[in-house]
Amino acid sequence: MPAEPVPLRSFEKDLVVESFELFDVPPRWLFLKVATKGGLVGWGEPVVEGRSGAVRTAVEELGEYVIGRPANRIEDIWQVLHRGGFYRGGPVLMSAIAGIDQALWDIKGKALDAPVYELLGGAVRGSIAVYGWIGGDSPDGVAEAAQHRVKQGFGAVKMNASGRMAWIDSPQRIAEIAERMRLVREAVGPDIGIGVDFHGRIHRGLARRAIEALEPYAPMFVEDPVAPGHEDLLAGLAAGLRTPLATGERLYSRWDFKHVLPHIDVAQPDVSHAGGISETRRIASMAEAYDVALAPHCPLGPLALAASLHVDFASLNAFIQETSLGMHYHDQYGVELLDYVANPEVFAVQEGKISLPEKPGLGVEIAEDIVRKEAGRADGENGWRNPVWRLSDGSFAEW
Ligand SMILES: [Mg+2]
Repeated sequence: MPAEPVPLRSFEKDLVVESFELFDVPPRWLFLKVATKGGLVGWGEPVVEGRSGAVRTAVEELGEYVIGRPANRIEDIWQVLHRGGFYRGGPVLMSAIAGIDQALWDIKGKALDAPVYELLGGAVRGSIAVYGWIGGDSPDGVAEAAQHRVKQGFGAVKMNASGRMAWIDSPQRIAEIAERMRLVREAVGPDIGIGVDFHGRIHRGLARRAIEALEPYAPMFVEDPVAPGHEDLLAGLAAGLRTPLATGERLYSRWDFKHVLPHIDVAQPDVSHAGGISETRRIASMAEAYDVALAPHCPLGPLALAASLHVDFASLNAFIQETSLGMHYHDQYGVELLDYVANPEVFAVQEGKISLPEKPGLGVEIAEDIVRKEAGRADGENGWRNPVWRLSDGSFAEW
């Protein structure tokens, strides 16, 4: 075993990691249970949607380093997992690290009898606004879905701007983007936030025209106005717009964010893709120095949501949190986020907000019997896969 930076201290003996256990659960999540010698257990969610098998293998490989080491040494473990493999970054490795990191924070909180936000410096707010998904691939039902979210207690919603888009598409497609937004704005009124996700579907040539078409309806932000890899276009796109630009769900570290923070208004790291609580918190601090707001991406399960909330509660620039509560793709498997939680009250949405949890660690009691029952149902070829879209001429279209 390589040399440790600090010899094992007496209080760490019970915190030595003894085992990793992974559970593929529907609709498209992967849960990690980390157990220590002293009997403490931490949970995390290391997953890339549609690639859970690849992340599972990465977690198992990284576990070789973590098992046998004290769980409290989160920073040192993080640095070794990130830098110590020589090759670093990207969705699979950073999501694997993310789930391990979340589980270690859960253990640290339980060991110290404190919620994770306490260990990040303490809460800067008592609650955080959340938003719910309403679809938007087609205009059908978006207005009704938005009204339903408002009835459920949400003060903000998010939708896709469009379905599949050609590289240069017709004026009709742009008109449809504006019309969808108009329907939703008219349905919910001026007090409700409406985030619009371009999802990387709209290419450079039409991005500005599409954002300008939405501006009369005051979107809360436009997300991923261009696809990942085109961050160099954001500066030019932002110039002259009145709409906040958001991006980050497909960025995985500070090193990815440093190029985009000067040109965006809202950073959206995903706490299960961007290296966990540790790295998301650092990205939040880095964003603050650019006057950029934080709105963590989270279409995932209860552990990812809880981990995101702890970062939000400790980060001044966080203003809203995505949740997958009641999200549409759940119908195909018949389970939803709260089914995996024995204390669902921690995620209660009241007046559009989720309040500070008080339990130690992540504050989520996982319903392990349900996790074990569901594990494997969404495994392998039964698992969720990214839709593959094509245009009418047969060529690939961004989903
Ligand atoms: Mg998105």
